Amino acid sequence: MKLTKSDFLLYLEAPLHLWADKNSKLERTMSALEINLMDQGYEVEKLAHEYLEKFVVRKSEAEKLLWQESFSDKQYAVRTDALVHKPETDSYDLYEIKSGTKIKPENIFDVAFQFLILKKQIKIDRIFLLHLNRDYVRYSQLDLEHLFLAEDITEKVHDLKMEVDTKRKETLSVSQSEAPDGIEHCYKPQTCPCPELCHPDLPMFSIYDIPRISKKKKAQLLEMGIYEAKNIPDSFPLTPKQCLIVNLAKTNQEHIDHEAIRHEIERLSYPLYFLDYETYNAAIPLFDGYHPQQQMVFQYSLHKMESEDGDIKHTEHLSITKEEPSKSLLEQLSNEFGDLGTVFVWSKGFEMTRNKEMAVIHPEYADFLTALNERIYDLADFIKLAYYLHPDFKGSWSIKNVLPVMVPELSYQNMQIGKGDQAMMAWWEIVSGKMPAEEVEKTKEALLKYCELDTWAMVKIWESLQRKQ
Ligand code: SF4
Repeated sequence: MKLTKSDFLLYLEAPLHLWADKNSKLERTMSALEINLMDQGYEVEKLAHEYLEKFVVRKSEAEKLLWQESFSDKQYAVRTDALVHKPETDSYDLYEIKSGTKIKPENIFDVAFQFLILKKQIKIDRIFLLHLNRDYVRYSQLDLEHLFLAEDITEKVHDLKMEVDTKRKETLSVSQSEAPDGIEHCYKPQTCPCPELCHPDLPMFSIYDIPRISKKKKAQLLEMGIYEAKNIPDSFPLTPKQCLIVNLAKTNQEHIDHEAIRHEIERLSYPLYFLDYETYNAAIPLFDGYHPQQQMVFQYSLHKMESEDGDIKHTEHLSITKEEPSKSLLEQLSNEFGDLGTVFVWSKGFEMTRNKEMAVIHPEYADFLTALNERIYDLADFIKLAYYLHPDFKGSWSIKNVLPVMVPELSYQNMQIGKGDQAMMAWWEIVSGKMPAEEVEKTKEALLKYCELDTWAMVKIWESLQRKQ
């Protein structure tokens, strides 16, 4: 069996993943979102083919496009995306197509792997990464000429080819190993596809849970035989925040900075708003005003607390039409806010960026959205800035980890939609008409419930924080 580009990329992800794959021990099923991303990738590929034919291949010079040709040498095999044959020099330009909007470091490794195989058989002149142009804005029909950017990565590929040659030999050796012993794993166990091989006895609060700890330090700790955060010696060099997290693991006690919590609470003003958006991003913009890969806001949930012991009111909006979704959403949202009051979100970068983007697409709401951003307060900061920490957060400030600890009666478990990517896919399947009609109403309800829980969770976390002043 020859080693393919996919094998090589798996090796780069983690050598152990390649071994697990070759030995049928890699448990990986594609999520609906991953399948959707793959489908979007095919769509981009189709348009890239058209782009190359129309704007790159010089027919007058008798140039020809070779689409998805396979090449191999003794041990390695690859299928290229596109080659443009230039008869004048009998050479080829290589094009690798990506549906992202920028070059990632692994893209160069990917193309260098191809180059090493191709160069033995054909003369390669220039090498390009053809990706979506993040500055392109759709208006009416797609403007193919400006949708893509072909970046010349020839020098970068040449700079890397020795390293890739070494790595592909290592890849080969790992793929032929009898046993996984000593094969390198990664240091980020999140959605592990082979935990049994890698860390069968990973403790609940492991060294991997310490925020921002470097790979080097994780490797040092593993060499010392330390897996559990609580076993890290006091003398081991960590940042003050990391020390705090490790101490939580050691003492199994929460950390409360009463003064900081009180100080922050005093800065905030009623009415309090708790806001959350759900979004979908399309590689190829679906509506006017959008860039490739830009998030479209299709849903919000908002809880409003008038005063400390006042009523809490809930409003929401879900745009499910063939129209651009944020327009109707903004029509409603802009009527929900008075001039005063703090607006809580969880991890403000996301909502604030969406607001800025919506202000460009719908300038009639720009003033509203700019003012909204000035009032946003990131509720997650109470955790991120270590005003309140609990050992059961396990070093995370994700609301999915914080909520069950601070408000155990609320949970995302057993919900039809309980994660952002599920919400994204549910919305897309409804609006694209892929969802059977009899499932639509139930799914809309599940979407509303999910987003409502996101903001209700913030209300309850806020109430819990107030009791900790
Ligand atoms: S830590 Fe998880 S993701 Fe990393 S190599 Fe091990 S099983 Fe794979």
